[in-house]
Amino acid sequence: MKVFKFGGASVKDAASVKNVGQILKTYKGQPIVIVVSAMGKMTNAFEKVVEAYYHKTGEAESLFEKIKSDHFAIMHELFDRNHEVFADVNDTLTEVHWILEDMPEESFDYLYDQIVSIGEFVSSKILAAWLNQLGLPATWLDVRDVILTDNTYREARVDWNVTESKMQALVPQMIKSGFVVTQGFIGGTSENFTTTLGREGSDYTAAIFSTCLSAESMSVWKDVPGILTADPRLFKNVVKIDRLSYREAIEMTYYGAKVIHPKTIKPLQNKNIPLHVKSFENPDGEGTLISDQFENYYPPVVVVEKNQALIQISTTDFSFIAESHLSQIFTLLAELRVKVNMMQNSAISFSICVDNKPERLSKFVSTLDQEFKIVVDQPLELITVRHYNNETLNPLKKGKMVLFEEKIRDTAQIVVKETPLIEPK
Ligand code: ADP
Ligand code: ASP
Ligand code: MG
Repeated sequence: MKVFKFGGASVKDAASVKNVGQILKTYKGQPIVIVVSAMGKMTNAFEKVVEAYYHKTGEAESLFEKIKSDHFAIMHELFDRNHEVFADVNDTLTEVHWILEDMPEESFDYLYDQIVSIGEFVSSKILAAWLNQLGLPATWLDVRDVILTDNTYREARVDWNVTESKMQALVPQMIKSGFVVTQGFIGGTSENFTTTLGREGSDYTAAIFSTCLSAESMSVWKDVPGILTADPRLFKNVVKIDRLSYREAIEMTYYGAKVIHPKTIKPLQNKNIPLHVKSFENPDGEGTLISDQFENYYPPVVVVEKNQALIQISTTDFSFIAESHLSQIFTLLAELRVKVNMMQNSAISFSICVDNKPERLSKFVSTLDQEFKIVVDQPLELITVRHYNNETLNPLKKGKMVLFEEKIRDTAQIVVKETPLIEPK
C-alpha cells in the first residue's frame, strides 16, 4: 500500500483536479490512500469566516457564501448538473450555515475546528467523485472514523494506539475496491467532535496513515520539483536536493522550512518508510527522496522563519541567572506551548527566540515580570543555514540588523531585524 498526499495547490481549481486525475490514472489498480487538503487557499478563507462569526462583525455569512459559490463553480466545470456530488457537498456546507445561525457560545478554537475542517471534507468529496467519473474507483473515507485525537482544538494530539487499530480494521478492506480518498489536517475526538492537527497538517495526516498501515512509501505532490536549497518564493538560484536523510529533513522542517509539516518525518523514520516529494506539474520528475540513507555532502540550505520574537529575561538585582530560574522559565514555556527556536545566556540574562504568538507571549510576560526584567523585540526573522559557509551566510545579513548569531557544527542561525541600509549617494 502507498499513501499520496495532494496539497491545496494541487486541487486549487477544476483544471488542477483534472491534473490530479491524470496523475492517478497512471496508478490505476494500485492500493493507494489519497489524503487531500482544502482547495487552494480555502483554509484561509474559512479562517476569515470563523473570525467574523466569533467577533460578530456581521460578515460571516457573506464570506461563507463566497466560499460556497467558489466550490460550486469548480464543480460545474467538472460534473453534469445532475451529479449527486452537488447534493453531497451542499449538505456538508449546510453544517456551517447551522453553526452561523446560532450565537458563538463555544470557545474560538472549538468553533474554528468545526468550521475550518469543512474545506477538507468538501475537497475530498469533489476529488473522490471526479476519480469515479474518470473510471478510477475511489471510496470516500471520513478521517474522523480512523484518526482519534484528544480535544486540544487547533493542535490536537493523536491517540496512536486507537488510530492504528481503527485504520487497520477499516482501510485494508476498503482499499480492495480501489483508491481510498480522505481528508488531511483533521481528526475526531471520542465524543465525535472534529479537531484539526495544526495549519499545514495534511502532510502529517499522510504520515499517520503511512505509519499505521506500514505503507511501502509516501508521496507528497507539491508545486515545487522537490525539496530545494531554499524557498523559491524568497530566493533566486535555488537547486533541488535529490536525496535527503530523515535527519536532514527533520532539521530543516524543525527550523521552519515550509515545504513539509514538521511532525511528518518522525513517524516515517520510526518505520523506515521512504518519503517522496514530487511535483504535480511534472509527475515524471524524480523529486526528492527522503530516507534513511546518509549522503556525504549537502549544499548550504537556507530556512527563513518569519514572525519571531526575541525575549530577553534578566534578573533585577544583578544575581546570576541560575538553573532554578531556567527551570521556572521552561515550565512556563511548556505550559503555554511556546516553541523556543534559539536560546543564549549571559551572567544575568537569558534570551530566547520564539514564535511570535501575541496572546501566549503576553501571558508569559505578565507571569514573570514581577520577578524579572523582560524586554520583547518583534517582529523579527530567524534565518537558519544548514551546512553554512560565509558565501551563503553574509549576503543574508545585508540590510538587516543582526540581533543574535550562533554557529554550531552544521548549523548557523541569525535573528535579524529589517533596517533600511544606509548607502552613500
Ligand atoms: P501543499 O500544497 O502541499 O500544502 P505547501 O505550499 O505547504 O504545499 O509547500 C510547498 C511550498 O513550500 C512551495 O511552494 C515553496 O514556496 C515552499 N517552500 C519553502 N521552503 C522550501 C524548500 N526548501 N523547498 C521547496 N519548497 C519550499
Ligand atoms: N488545509 C490546511 C491548511 O491550509 C491543511 C493543509 O493544507 O495541510 O493549513
Ligand atoms: Mg501545505
